[in-house]
Amino acid sequence: MKTYETIIIGGGPGGLSAGIYAMRSRLDTILVEKYLPGGQMVIVHFIENYPGFPDGVSGPDISAAMELQARHLGLEITSADVLSVDFSGQEKIVNTSEGELRALTVIIATGAVPRRLGVPGEDRLTGKGVSYCATCDGAFFRDKEIAVVGGGNTAIQDAGFLTRFAKKLTIIHRRDALRATKILQERVFKNPKIEIAWNSVVVEMHGDPKLEGVVLHNVKDHSRRVLPVDGCFVLIGTDANTEFLRGKVTLDPTGYIITDEDMQTSAPGIFAAGDCRRKSLRQMVTAAADGAIAAVAAEQYIEALRDKTL
Ligand code: NAP
Repeated sequence: MKTYETIIIGGGPGGLSAGIYAMRSRLDTILVEKYLPGGQMVIVHFIENYPGFPDGVSGPDISAAMELQARHLGLEITSADVLSVDFSGQEKIVNTSEGELRALTVIIATGAVPRRLGVPGEDRLTGKGVSYCATCDGAFFRDKEIAVVGGGNTAIQDAGFLTRFAKKLTIIHRRDALRATKILQERVFKNPKIEIAWNSVVVEMHGDPKLEGVVLHNVKDHSRRVLPVDGCFVLIGTDANTEFLRGKVTLDPTGYIITDEDMQTSAPGIFAAGDCRRKSLRQMVTAAADGAIAAVAAEQYIEALRDKTL
């Protein structure tokens, strides 16, 4: 069986950037992606803060450009689900839905998935009014009343985007101050279609067969009310895709991979890049930077391994 020099798991900006740098280092590399390359970039309608695009760029466009750049350099990309890994030997083993892969180094760039509220009605109404992706589902709510749960950058930026379609939008936030950056906050405060339900949490979602409303609980005065909405976008952050790594590399208590500044994990030869890593700023630009560092560190690890065996 072939042994690659590097296996990259995940095809978001971290993985694709690692692929570009690995190919320029002439590492024999394969990138494994579960769905289509692009990761969370694909579901971002418009990216305003990636350097080099003064007028912004669409997520799908920049994903396609990154993938093309990696493929032009010769990166092999395969579609498979990673099921388990064995990092105990010098040859690292990655078991996928399409068979086993082996390599001297692995770069984990598996990103993160949207967090769920975990309230009654949420699972049943997902796809029937409850959504985790404004870009994917916003257009279904033309002239409707909708809600966005969350006060971070994603919720606040996407709330603005969703008012292109919605008649009225209520941001539901559990505190009395937003977490999002000031420039995004200023935009929602000025938007006449947006109201904010402060100090409020969703405790239930109801409707049959589609969402008709959410029950709000005010955490300050403990009052309850029903907010009638046709759509509810739950945008409360993400959880790392690292379940298959439990016991293989050190994770922090919330499941994010701990690395050093060279993206080295607790397991020799295993690196991590992007949103799956514990870090202070999860952005495309930091994911891409992580990927570049991880690929260079992987090359150095392989060189050191060869020096030892010569
Ligand atoms: P985030 O920054 O973690 O914010 C999550 C928000 O959801 C917070 O306001 C949090 O409330 C709230 N929340 C979390 N769990 C909740 C629960 N169970 N019930 C109710 N509310 C809950 O996540 P994010 O907005 O998805 O952003 C993720 C990363 O991507 C961040 O680093 C962000 O800066 C970045 N990002 C950047 C941009 C941009 O720069 N334009 C756009 C999108 C995302 P609290 O505030 O009370 O904790």
